Amino acid sequence: MFVRADLNVPLEDGVVTDDLRISAALPTLNELRRAGAALVLASHLGRPKGKPTDELRLEPVRARLAELGDFEVLPLGGPAGEDARAAAGALGPGEVGLLENLRFHPGEESNDPGFAEELASLAEAYVGDAFGAAHRAHASVVGVPERLPAVAGRLMQREIEVISKLLHDPAQPFVAILGGAKVSDKLGVIDALLERVDALLVGGAMAFTFLAAQGAETGDSLVEEDRLDDVRRSLKRADERGVPIVLPEDIVAATEISADARKETVPAGRIPPGLKGLDIGPRTAREFARILSDARTVFWNGPMGVFELEPFALGTRGVAQAVAGISAFTVVGGGDSVAAIRKLGFEDRVDHLSTGGGASLEFLEGKTLPGVAVLMEDADG
Ligand code: ADP
Ligand code: MG
Repeated sequence: MFVRADLNVPLEDGVVTDDLRISAALPTLNELRRAGAALVLASHLGRPKGKPTDELRLEPVRARLAELGDFEVLPLGGPAGEDARAAAGALGPGEVGLLENLRFHPGEESNDPGFAEELASLAEAYVGDAFGAAHRAHASVVGVPERLPAVAGRLMQREIEVISKLLHDPAQPFVAILGGAKVSDKLGVIDALLERVDALLVGGAMAFTFLAAQGAETGDSLVEEDRLDDVRRSLKRADERGVPIVLPEDIVAATEISADARKETVPAGRIPPGLKGLDIGPRTAREFARILSDARTVFWNGPMGVFELEPFALGTRGVAQAVAGISAFTVVGGGDSVAAIRKLGFEDRVDHLSTGGGASLEFLEGKTLPGVAVLMEDADG
């Protein structure tokens, strides 16, 4: 059985710093092991651009998977070539082998037919469980399942089920919170959400493009000048639909992005020149929490500030606390917002942490993800 998982985890000096994606892969692996399948497991890691790169070898991931799963994970090498084929062929029932980083081969990202064929020849069936890569038409995501009987794994099923619920049948009021670095990354999802939510709360750096579009003084905060018109269009659409886009009223600002910088709380509409907005202020955090307290469905993507630095983490923590504290159906997507929730120890108090940042946003935009579509085709036929 060929299992495409998403084990693309953050590494620092060869150590896995967040293992959510590894633990999220376990239900599928354990179920298949119990059924006696020999598992050829494959994933990408980072962006090695088609050549072997020592820092992006899967060894630390293999070791952590073996530790978390409490089973042996054999390194298979490859991802292509005779040695990998021999190692994969030698796996017994219930055994797990891990191919080397798929993106070490240029054929992965280009969905090269020869590479897809080679991967497909390692197994008789395919399980697609890499939701985080499902928006990429890569060889292991679409090429292999086109060549083998293919089904969705448990994680993939759960991700699809949860985000479909947000798209088609959310309990109302449905409140979305967006933050993070760039509004340009999230314009598509803003427009899609505006058709569905009862309120959209905006924090993070992206709030400053909204504030600037309304004529606020944003000081030295990040404003994407070339997106002002898009943001104005979204504000107009929200107005037509009667959906409030709730922007920060106060901002924590500093002269530079540094934990030692002196911070100051200022009104969001009047950030003095020389200061950068780095977090939502306490009044805003309270207002967001108040709106969230009435919600029955919540989707959160993107931190409220530069939460990696303690002085600018309060807004993100406040929202995390609010999301964790309500009984609504709560979904958090996005690498940094999920990391923030986990760091605060709230992961058990959220209904779903999505393992796919970009994939969950594209799915929520209503786009067809190639790695999902290919599994559905098989299910139909
Ligand atoms: P996610 O991974 O949850 O989708 P993003 O990748 O879009 O979120 O954005 C996360 C990044 O945004 C974090 O590194 C954070 O420091 C940064 N960020 C948030 N608010 C600000 C701000 N006001 N100024 C600069 N960077 C910010
Ligand atoms: Mg991110």
